[in-house]
Amino acid sequence: MEKKALAELLSDESIKHLAIPSNIRLGTQLFSSGAVEVIERGPVRVAATVEGPVRRKVMLEATDFGLQWSCTCRKELARLCKHCIAVGLAVR
Ligand SMILES: [Zn+2]
Repeated sequence: MEKKALAELLSDESIKHLAIPSNIRLGTQLFSSGAVEVIERGPVRVAATVEGPVRRKVMLEATDFGLQWSCTCRKELARLCKHCIAVGLAVR
C-alpha cells in the first residue's frame, strides 16, 4: 500500500469515519478560535498544541497503516478527539 500524505488522510471524509459528530463540531470550533499552534510540521508528521483550560499536545502521523494519532487528553484514543480534529484542520 502506498503511503498517503498527511493532508490526504485528513479529508472531511476521513475525519467523518474517525470521529463522532460532536467532536468534529468542537474541533472545528477550536480550530476557528485559533487555539492550535503547530510545533513541528513535515509531510507525514505533525506535532501541535491546542490551548484550552488544559493545554493538550497532539501528534498526527501518516503511516503505512493510515493515520495514527495521539493526544494528551487520553492515553488511548480509538477515535479522533476534538484536539486531534482541530490540529487536522490546521494541517490541511
Ligand atoms: Zn485530545
